[in-house]
Amino acid sequence: LKDLFVGLDLGGTWLKYGVAGADGKLLARGKKPSHGQESREVIFGVMEEAVAEMKAATADVGQLRAIGVGSPGIVDYEQGKLVGGAPNLPHWEGADIRGELGRRTGLKVYADNDANVMALAETRLGAGRGARNAIFLTLGTGIGGGILIDGELYRGSWFAGAELGHVPIKFDGRKCNCGNVGCIEQYASAPGIIQTYRELCEAAGRTCPDEVTTEHIFGVADEDKEAAETIRLTAYYLGVALSGFTNVFNPEVIVIGGGVAEAGDAFIRKVEDETKKLAMRESASRLRVVRAQMGNEAGTVGAILLAAEGYAKEKEGRA
Ligand SMILES: [Zn+2]
Repeated sequence: LKDLFVGLDLGGTWLKYGVAGADGKLLARGKKPSHGQESREVIFGVMEEAVAEMKAATADVGQLRAIGVGSPGIVDYEQGKLVGGAPNLPHWEGADIRGELGRRTGLKVYADNDANVMALAETRLGAGRGARNAIFLTLGTGIGGGILIDGELYRGSWFAGAELGHVPIKFDGRKCNCGNVGCIEQYASAPGIIQTYRELCEAAGRTCPDEVTTEHIFGVADEDKEAAETIRLTAYYLGVALSGFTNVFNPEVIVIGGGVAEAGDAFIRKVEDETKKLAMRESASRLRVVRAQMGNEAGTVGAILLAAEGYAKEKEGRA
C-alpha cells in the first residue's frame, strides 16, 4: 500500500481538495462550499468531511499518512496555527489547524499560507520545476507571494515573510490596506489594474464602464488607448517590483499565477522585458519570468506536497 496525502485548499467561498502520493498526481479530488463566513467549528467540519471522502475514495490504493492545508492569512508553519487575519474568513484568525484537524482525523497535519503552498506546487511540479531559487507571485484580488531558497520555502523569522504584494513601488502612491502606501498590490492586483484604467479614462475625459474587469481591459487593448496604456503601466509596475526581487534573490525563475496572469503570455513577456531592463544585468542574465502552469490545482497539489515533504522530513528525523 502506498503512502497517501490529502491536500486542502481553503478559500473564503470554496474548499478544494484532493488526494495523491508524494508525486502529487491526483487520485481523487473534490470541492465544497467552505462556509468561510461561519464559525471555525463549521469550517473544520467541512474539512473533516473532505478528508473522509478522500480516504474512502482511495481505501484500496493506500494509507493516508498526513494532511496538508493551504489557508489564507499568516500561518505559523511550526505550530500549524493561524497567527494573522484572513479577511475572507472572519472567524478563522487563531484557528489551530494542526490541533483541531489532527484530533478530528487522527492524522498529522501540516499547514501553511495559501500562496506558499501554491509556490511549492509551481516550483516542484509546475512552471518553476527543478528551480532551487524561485519567486512566485499570484495576481488576483490581492497579491500573494512565495520565495524558494535552496529548494526550500522561505517563511521568515515568525512566518510573516514572503508578503511580496506589500513591497512598495511608489513612496507617494496609493494607500494600501496593510497601512503602507504604494504597495505593488495596489497596482498589479485586479482591483489595482481596474483603478489605473479608471484614472486614465477620467484623465482622457471618457467615462469608464461601471462593471469593467481585467479581462475586458486586456480584451480591448488593441482598439482602446487607455486599456493599452493600463497594460503597459501594469507591466512596468510589476517590472519595478520584480527587478527588486531579482537583485535581492537572484532567482532562476519568477512564476506568475492568478487570474491576472491568465491574460496570457504576451503580458508575461512584457513583464519579463521590464524586469530585465530594470534589474542589475548580472542578477537578471539567466532569469526567466513565466506563467504558472498548475492553474486551479496549484493550491490542492501544493498542500499535498506540503504534507508529503513534512511527513518525509519527520520520518527522517525519527530514523
Ligand atoms: Zn500593502
